[in-house]
Amino acid sequence: MPEDTVGRLRGKVAIVTGASRGIGQAIAVRFAREGAQVIAAARNADDLAETAAMGAGRIVTQRCDVQKATDVQALITRAVDEYGALDVLVNNAGIAVQKLLVDTTEEDWELTMDTNVKGTFWGLKFAIPVMKAGGSIVNIGSVNSFAGEQTSSAYVTSKGAVLLLTKNAAAETAHLGIRVNIVCPGSTETQMSRAYFEAAMGSADAADTFTRTFAPLTGMIPPEDIASAALFLASDESKSMTGSSMLVDGGLLASWDHVTPH
Ligand code: NAP
Repeated sequence: MPEDTVGRLRGKVAIVTGASRGIGQAIAVRFAREGAQVIAAARNADDLAETAAMGAGRIVTQRCDVQKATDVQALITRAVDEYGALDVLVNNAGIAVQKLLVDTTEEDWELTMDTNVKGTFWGLKFAIPVMKAGGSIVNIGSVNSFAGEQTSSAYVTSKGAVLLLTKNAAAETAHLGIRVNIVCPGSTETQMSRAYFEAAMGSADAADTFTRTFAPLTGMIPPEDIASAALFLASDESKSMTGSSMLVDGGLLASWDHVTPH
């Protein structure tokens, strides 16, 4: 890992949930590179160890199931007890169930809502009381915070809810000097999107070519580009922003007529 060049989070303590792979791992590593002390959280300890190994000594790990209030509370307490503060929280942990609405079971619905919505709620609920003015919470939504998609009813509903939860939390915390914003990624190269394209197309190999039709700027987005947006919202550079949503989608939602030939 290169040395810090800028240190945009120097001196800050940050928690990133869902940091054992994919977007959360990229965020944790980027934050550590920018000088933060990071607590990377997820359920799988072995995967978390990989994230820690990429953090040049600035990433510690904690097992946490964001569905469980006690786990999230323990995570946030650790930041304060061990490092003296919590400056940044990224509520990134998420899952996607791909089923038609009529095939979605109660279990699918509850797992999706408990992870994506309730997990974010627990993060907000326990972080806000311990954060000081200048604290920043970054939620991870999706293009599906704004638009539907076949076979993703529960997921789309959950990501729409996270968008409005973000705005409401921002409204409640602005007078405390705490900010709450949301990054909304398009198709990003991770295990979650590979599973999606495998289910939809039989293979994830053509995902980039396929995605380029709808997101001509990027095709599949590197997780590091989502981390860049999260870094901006976590840092003091965005100190006048709260309740904002930042789309990082390669142009996906810029137009409805993506398939018109040029
Ligand atoms: P991913 O590769 O599947 O990673 C998901 C992460 O969340 C893993 O670290 C996983 O670790 C963790 N996680 C899942 N359930 C958890 C739970 N109950 N408690 C704690 N951690 C949990 O997915 P990703 O693509 O990086 O997605 C990250 C976020 O970006 C999600 O919120 C997703 O909805 C959003 N997003 C992704 C895309 C995309 O195209 N990839 C697009 C838009 C939005 P463990 O399994 O070890 O717990």
